[in-house]
Amino acid sequence: MSPTLTFALAGNPNCGKTTLFNSLTGARQHVGNYPGVTVEKREGRLSVGPREMAVVDLPGMYSLTAYSTDELAARLFLVEEKPSCVIDVVDAGTLERSLYLSVQLLELGVPVVLALNMMDEVRRRGLVLDGKRLSAILGVPVVETVARVGEGREELIREALAFAEKRRGPWEPLVISYGADIDQTLLRMEARIEADRFLTDRFPARWLALKYLEGDSDVIALGRANGPTAVVLEEMAATLSRHIEATLASTPDAVISDHRYGYIAAVLRQGVLKSSAARDRIAGSDSLDRVLTHTVAGPVIMLAVLYAMFQITFSLGQFPMDWLEAGFGWLGDAVGGLLPEGMLRSLAVSGIIAGVGGVLGFVPLIIIMFFQLSFLEDLGYMARVAYMLDRVFRAFGLHGGSVMPFIIAGGIPGGCAVPGVMAARTLRSPKERLVTILAAPFMACGAKIPVFLLLIAAFFPGNAGLVMFLVTLASWAAALLVARLWRATVVTGQGMPFIMELPPYRLPTLRGLCIHTGERAWQYIKKAATVILAISILMWAAMTFPGLDEEQRAAFEAERAAVTAAASAQEQRDAIDNREAEAVLRHSLAGRVGVALESVSRLAGFDWRVNIALIGGIAAKEVVVSTLGTAYALGEVDPQDTATLSERIAADPAFSPLSALALMAFTILYAPCFVTVVTMAKEASWKWAGFAVVANTGLGFLVAVAIYQIGRLF
Ligand code: GDP
Ligand code: MG
Repeated sequence: MSPTLTFALAGNPNCGKTTLFNSLTGARQHVGNYPGVTVEKREGRLSVGPREMAVVDLPGMYSLTAYSTDELAARLFLVEEKPSCVIDVVDAGTLERSLYLSVQLLELGVPVVLALNMMDEVRRRGLVLDGKRLSAILGVPVVETVARVGEGREELIREALAFAEKRRGPWEPLVISYGADIDQTLLRMEARIEADRFLTDRFPARWLALKYLEGDSDVIALGRANGPTAVVLEEMAATLSRHIEATLASTPDAVISDHRYGYIAAVLRQGVLKSSAARDRIAGSDSLDRVLTHTVAGPVIMLAVLYAMFQITFSLGQFPMDWLEAGFGWLGDAVGGLLPEGMLRSLAVSGIIAGVGGVLGFVPLIIIMFFQLSFLEDLGYMARVAYMLDRVFRAFGLHGGSVMPFIIAGGIPGGCAVPGVMAARTLRSPKERLVTILAAPFMACGAKIPVFLLLIAAFFPGNAGLVMFLVTLASWAAALLVARLWRATVVTGQGMPFIMELPPYRLPTLRGLCIHTGERAWQYIKKAATVILAISILMWAAMTFPGLDEEQRAAFEAERAAVTAAASAQEQRDAIDNREAEAVLRHSLAGRVGVALESVSRLAGFDWRVNIALIGGIAAKEVVVSTLGTAYALGEVDPQDTATLSERIAADPAFSPLSALALMAFTILYAPCFVTVVTMAKEASWKWAGFAVVANTGLGFLVAVAIYQIGRLF
């Protein structure tokens, strides 16, 4: 009878694989580091009761990204033969270095059992290792062994058998975050690989994508022989490589290996290495982290950094923003003067310039904020933020793995919920992943920022930095509280352990910062010039048609005619024009919807104009600003009036600081934008995406009403 299960022994050279192989199989293989260029397959048999297993001794390797021929042969064996279980033999005395291979085996997804070998030496050196803790964190069995005397042999066999049974079927790759740039490219490559079914029968998609980024020549050659997808993947890898060269003066494989070591360092920090001597060895390189991630000082510094960032943004950004707003005001007047009165002028001035200009007016602030964010990100500080928040997150039924998706979604303002929702893929636990997907859209994404900025400029200009800081905290609070709520009601179940990795600090280059900032600013501008422009035109049409009917128009005409040649004639005529413009807006399609909703929305202090803007905001959140811009521009007829949108809103009696607060709360909470909803549906399901639209809007309305009604009591 041929054996049904195959165990492969993998590990660094000289970790004791062959010793273990001999002990398991009773073979008398030559113990020592064999330098063979090819693997002669050293295969032996192991019987447990009636069962017989094949055991394969692989050549030593440090990495699965093959540098030498025997590493390549070992990898080929894993991928081609798909052993039922890999016994990863680890020299427990050099855990940090040895785990580098283990992490890659886990990323490949093959079932792995860790044999912590040479425990006798470890004990002699006075190091204390916690194998159980390591097992809980990595999610694989860990057995302490002394291969030379056979210690741990029985337990190892038992665990390997049980795990091979348990993990029968498709491999389950570990997903590690490699930082925003690489993660996003990986996601796109994965999508492509899966869509084209490119070598998916042989490798997990993410692993294959990683090999491309690491520049693995063997995989690249294999890819080229397997169809046109290879060209696309190589191109994506080359683009990322250029980007990383330009921004970090590094290469993707260096960054990837940094993150793997960061991951390992984080694993060992979580109480795996107990003796102080050993812990110092790992943390010693990072004295900065002792301060920046200190239990008390860390969070204080984190809040101070965030607060300082907003203060700098607003104090530096005020002037260019004023100039830009004035510039769009002037442009509107100039274009208005050139075009004849009528639909075309209304579309150009009120629809396009007021709408898109309202969004573009915030470009200076966005650039200053993105620059600081890029600095913190490139420095490696964001990873520390995630590390610190891990503790907080556990209290809300999430875990540290949700921090990065939240940050990407706009936890540090300016992100986007779409990659945020996608980044939740790094979560292994389905419950926490779903809740992260549901909560990520509450973050202050780049599209909500102009909405907040507009309301702040109108009602809290003196405390802009502080209010923006509080809005950010409120977004986090909303995400955490709602996550807790869903974890207690609709997404119940046990959580999973998680490790947060800490890549090394790196001083960003000015060039890198400029590239990152430029890219983000450009994306913002591009969106304003395309999507927002299109929606602005649609919203303008909805706010213009159907026009007043003949009778109504005649009534206003008659009123105007009735104005006598009195001294106040011009004033009276302006007042009539204003009333007519408002009547047109109310009469329009959007106006009717806005007015119809007013009886309900009034509870939260929103008038019909705000209702129109909020409905538009479901298409894209910037549209709230562009729609308000159009709505106020349509209602305003005095061509001499050069008030900015924030001034108009501040002067409107329908608005108050209190209703502005309620509106900000609603903006944080209500339905995700259209693209996010589609992404949520793809990542979870349409059912959950629909749930988010309905539940978030309901929740947002309740909170807005509560703020407005309670605020009015004071
Ligand atoms: P391989 O290169 O991974 O196949 O390692 P070997 O099995 O050839 O072992 C390398 C060296 O480590 C040999 O000298 C072994 O005797 C020694 N060794 C193996 N396991 C242990 C152990 O658990 N404790 C100690 N102290 N030495 C071991
Ligand atoms: Mg050997």
